[in-house]
Amino acid sequence: MEGNCERIKSAAEKILTDGVIKPGNVLKVDSFLNHQIDVPFICLLGQKFKELFDDRKIDKILTIEASGIGIACLTAIYFNVPVVFAKKSAGSNMDKDVYATEVKSFTHNKVNHVIVSKKYLNKGEHILIMDDFLANGCAIKGLIDLVNQAGGIVEGAGICIEKGFQGGGDELRSEGIDVKSLAIIDQMDPETGTIVFR
Ligand code: 5GP
Repeated sequence: MEGNCERIKSAAEKILTDGVIKPGNVLKVDSFLNHQIDVPFICLLGQKFKELFDDRKIDKILTIEASGIGIACLTAIYFNVPVVFAKKSAGSNMDKDVYATEVKSFTHNKVNHVIVSKKYLNKGEHILIMDDFLANGCAIKGLIDLVNQAGGIVEGAGICIEKGFQGGGDELRSEGIDVKSLAIIDQMDPETGTIVFR
């Protein structure tokens, strides 16, 4: 794997060089985030999130499987905190004592039952929520619901790529959530391949 973090510094630049726009408002970033992971580059994003949320007390990072886990772990290194990832279905070896919520999946167009063991989210914990993408906001809202059920405090949401034109990010900001995205796409055109950033 070639990590080209020396040359490319921003998420927006990386999207422009490596992203592929698919019909249905889907951006594929399989070459560095969603299939192959460019670890040196994602580490740089982790450092950036540390700078952005440095004034916050963060006890734990919460994300959702599967594609949030990489960025959450490579950010957790800089905060020196654990990562908890919400699971999309209860396996047979999963604790029965869980917080649960429903999340409509944008990419698979179905509703997932999402759970976290009560052992790993606690009352009074300060939580940074993270994900790879933010579109309509369902995944982040589900994670906020889990933190609220546990009696935790949502310090903010760190997102690699926000598709601003789908409105989820601005809705969450208007509800008082500190959403910080490394790249916000306001327009993308599958025909021409054009991407306009905010
Ligand atoms: P939301 O719940 O905000 O509508 O969508 C966010 C979730 O859907 C993320 O967890 C992400 O995995 C997935 N997602 C949404 N849009 C895209 C996209 O354009 N490309 C990729 N790869 N995933 C997306």
